[in-house]
Formats: sequence, structure tokens, C-alpha cells
Amino acid sequence: MMIAYIERFVYENDVESMTDPETIEQNGDVLPLHGNVEFAGKDFGGVQSSKPLAVIKPSTTDDVAKVIRRASRSPHLTVAARGNGHSVSGQAMAHRGLVVDMKSVEYGIHVDPTGKYADVSGGALWEDVLKRCVLGHGLAPRSWTDYLDLTVGGTLSNAGISGQAFVFGPQTENVTELEVVTGNGDVLVCSSNLNPELFFSVLGGLGQFGIITRARVLLQPAPDMVRWIRVVYSEFSEFTRDIEWLVTRREGESFDYVEGFVFVNSDDPVNGWPTVPLDSDHPFDPTHIPRPAGPVLYCLELALHYKNEDPLSAVDKRVERLVGGLKFVEELRFEVDVGYMDFLLRVKRAEQQAKANGIWDAPHPWLNMFVSKKDIANFDRVIFKNILKYGVGGPMLVYPLLRSKWDDRKSVVLPEGEIFYLVALLRFCFPYPKALSVEEMVAQNQEIVQNCTKNGFDFKLYLPHYSSKEGWKHHFGNQWTRFQERKASFDPMAILAPGQKIFQRNWQPS
Ligand SMILES: Cc1cc2nc3c(=O)[nH]c(=O)nc-3n(C[C@H](O)[C@H](O)[C@H](O)COP(=O)(O)OP(=O)(O)OC[C@H]3O[C@@H](n4cnc5c(N)ncnc54)[C@H](O)[C@@H]3O)c2cc1C
Repeated sequence: MMIAYIERFVYENDVESMTDPETIEQNGDVLPLHGNVEFAGKDFGGVQSSKPLAVIKPSTTDDVAKVIRRASRSPHLTVAARGNGHSVSGQAMAHRGLVVDMKSVEYGIHVDPTGKYADVSGGALWEDVLKRCVLGHGLAPRSWTDYLDLTVGGTLSNAGISGQAFVFGPQTENVTELEVVTGNGDVLVCSSNLNPELFFSVLGGLGQFGIITRARVLLQPAPDMVRWIRVVYSEFSEFTRDIEWLVTRREGESFDYVEGFVFVNSDDPVNGWPTVPLDSDHPFDPTHIPRPAGPVLYCLELALHYKNEDPLSAVDKRVERLVGGLKFVEELRFEVDVGYMDFLLRVKRAEQQAKANGIWDAPHPWLNMFVSKKDIANFDRVIFKNILKYGVGGPMLVYPLLRSKWDDRKSVVLPEGEIFYLVALLRFCFPYPKALSVEEMVAQNQEIVQNCTKNGFDFKLYLPHYSSKEGWKHHFGNQWTRFQERKASFDPMAILAPGQKIFQRNWQPS
């Protein structure tokens, strides 16, 4: 008997029989009905909303497969896997379709006795993976996102990037095997050797080809501590020269984490100088900003791992060797030593504060893009120093990634060239009179994208969102045919991830 749990079901023609108001029966499978569907009609972005027909809480991979097979017998039912709903443009929604709440699948997090990898369920939160691996085994995944209240399947459907990606590539490069339920309802294990086309399709595949129910995540020994450093630049050219030098050094000869962000050259508490210091004992002293300086400044953020037994003098020496040649403003250097888990959970602390201020639950019209190195200086001039000179009410990340760390057989599309920058405009809506409204933020995002296009910048949206097929075709460029062919193989009726708005549901009755 299927033990999938439907939180609420709106009865319509799709369901042949309802045995009682709280269950539906299909081919001997009973799906209990209950609860509310409201949460699955919203996401972190808070800009889109859409009501599903039902939210299903599967317990097993087999339950997930049964939901997809059930949908395939209907002419128009769609199925969206919902990880933690932290998308910003409705990507995990299914308008009048079925939402599968992946966090309810019982699989867990199993560290292999060799310590080389963990098998984790697609609905596991990265924070739980971190805690299980570090506290239980002294091990940790190699590649992260900045924030860990995201599911394994949710980030693997995009890429999963943070300051470790220049060494290990995105999270999609750090899994060696997946269990996937395809849009055909087949349960398949895949890797680069076994069902490789499915493996490469699903990673970065925006949920279009299958639902990831298990992933094999590579592990490494976890450090105990992290030296966390921020240094400030007034010149973008110096910032980019130094950050590119750090990410192109040989493995083991740089920091373990390298990111950067842009901030406003003012005392604005959410966009400016106060966002840089790492502890309250060491505030930002603006008298050290070189004159003249522009409307925005740049912060290089670094982290070096070490073990408890490493003498601090040795850690100091490694740090000084690396920062010695960098051209940041000497007096604007901030550093602290924190536990490894505290470092990885740093955004959770910001989340707690934002929740207390009520801004965590307000809309987040975020814009994420990859911009080629060849255009990043112009991007700084046209976008950061001009359109965004007052900030976005939250972090404006900018840091380089290396194309050679991304396997182009996977579904993510990138700009040309070995070095490209992640630009993440992580907007929060503040209840200040000067802050932009949500509509103005959305319009500003459009203005930025239009400016990039008008100036001929080589860029791709990350966590993309388009409302027309033309937009998607343009996004995938010469990968569009491959993407379509993969869809035709693994989800020919376009049942999966309708919230991405790439393909229209179609029906091929058998
Ligand atoms: C505060 C915050 C910080 C973030 N920081 C980073 C960051 O540092 N780096 C980064 O790369 N990203 C970051 N993101 C973006 C994040 O990685 C994506 O939005 C991700 O999709 C969210 O994961 P989720 O589990 O909430 O997925 P959802 O939003 O639930 O789903 C996203 C998409 O994946 C599909 N999907 C979900 N689960 C599965 C599955 N098991 N199998 C197949 N498809 C599935 C959904 O149908 C949907 O299309 C951040 C987002 C937030 C809100």
C-alpha cells in the first residue's frame, strides 16, 4: 500500500474515485488526504505564488515514483519536487499540480565506513549533512553553499556554489552517484559510468529530468577551526587582480575559501561600512579609506582551515605568506578564529537576526548571474558604481569561479572563458522610507539584465528564471538542443518541475 501522505487534495476529474473525504484510492494505493497546501504555493522569493492541487509527503523513493506514474496517466497533472522552497521565482511550485515534499522521504545520511563519501537523501538539508558528518565522523563535504538550510536535491538541481568552488568545483562536481526517479516513473541509479546521460542531465538540470532521491556526496577530513579574514579595496582592478591570483594558485597553495563582495562607501548600516567587520571589537574606521574613492568599495573574504593541534604561529605564517603580496588597504583588515561549523553556519546567524527584524519573511527579488572575466570591469562601472551605488539592501557578492572545475557534460550553462564571476544581488526589503519597493527592485533587476545585454556582456543567469521559451532558448544557447533531447528522453510528457516554465505538459496516452 502506498503510504504517501497528501496534505490536501482538491477533487477534480483527475481522480477517478475518492473512497472517503480524506483518502483517494488508485489502483489499490491509498493516499490519505489532510492539512493545507498553502506553504507550497509560496517560496523564499515571495514574489510569485501559485496554488497546487495537493502536497504529497512521500516516505520512500517508491512513493515518489508512484506519484509520477499517477500524474503520467492524466492529461495535465504536473509534479514539482519541493526541497526547502528557497527558490525565488516559483521554481518549486506546481500550479494545480502535485508538489512532492522531499524533506519527508525517509532515507537519511549514511557515512560510508571508508569515510570517502556519504549517501544522503535528496530531501536532506545540507545543515544536517554537515552536523552528521562532522560530529559523528570528523568528516565533511568539500563544496558548500553559503547558507545550509537548502536541500541536497535543490542545490544539485542548480549547481551549489560558495567560496570552496574554485578548488573543488560546485556541489554538482562533488557527487559521484545519484538515485533518480525520472519523468517516466523509472527509478534509476546513475553515475558517470552507469546511466551517464541521466547523471549529467540531472546535475544542474533544474529538476527537468528526474527527482533526486539519493546522492553520494564526497567527503574529506573536517578541520576544527577557520581563520576568517576580510580585507578592503577601493580599486576594483586591484581587487580582481588579487582575487584572481588567489583562485588560480595550485591546489593547497591558497586559502580554503575565497569570496568577495561590494559594499557602499557610506555608514549605511545595511549596505555600507558596518557590514564588513567580523566582530564588534574591531569596527570599520572610514578615515583609512584612500582618497579619492568611488561610491562603492570591495571586500575580499578569505578562510583558512586548521586543526586544533596546529600552532597558531604556523597558521599566522601561512596567512601572511598568502596575503603578503595583496594590495588591500592595510588598516582595513578584519579577522577572527571560529570553529569550522560556526563558519559554515554563518548565514544562519544572519537569518536569526533577520527573522527577529521581520525581514526574513519579506520578499526577496534576488538576481544571480555569472559574468565573464572579460566584462567584469565594465560590469563594475555600469552596474555596481552606477545603478547599484546605494546597494540592494543586502549582500552584493562578486567572486571568480573557474570553468575548468565544471564538467560541461552537466546541464548548467556558463559564460565563455576560464574565469567568470558570480554576481549575487541578495536583496532584502527593509521597512525604511528610502528603500526600494519590491516592484522597484524587480524593475531594477530587469534594468541590470537589459544593460548587460545592451553592452554585449557575456553573462548567464544563475538560478535562472524566464517566462518564455525564447528566453530559455537564448539562455541555453548552443546547449538548447541537448537540453530538449534530454527532456524528450527522461520526461517526455513534461511532468516535472513545471515552476521552471521551460516546457509545456503534454500527453502521450499509452
Ligand atoms: C538564503 C539563501 C542563500 C542561498 N545561498 C546560496 C549559495 O550560497 N550558493 C548557491 O549555489 N545557491 C544559494 N542559494 C540558492 C539555492 O541553492 C537554490 O535556490 C536552491 O534551489 C534552493 O534549494 P531548495 O532545497 O530550497 O530547493 P527548492 O527551491 O525547493 O527547489 C529548487 C528547484 O529544484 C527542484 N528540486 C528540489 N528538490 C529536488 C530533487 N530532490 N530532485 C530534483 N529536483 C529538485 C525543484 O522542483 C525546483 O525546480 C541560496 C538561497 C537562499 C534562499
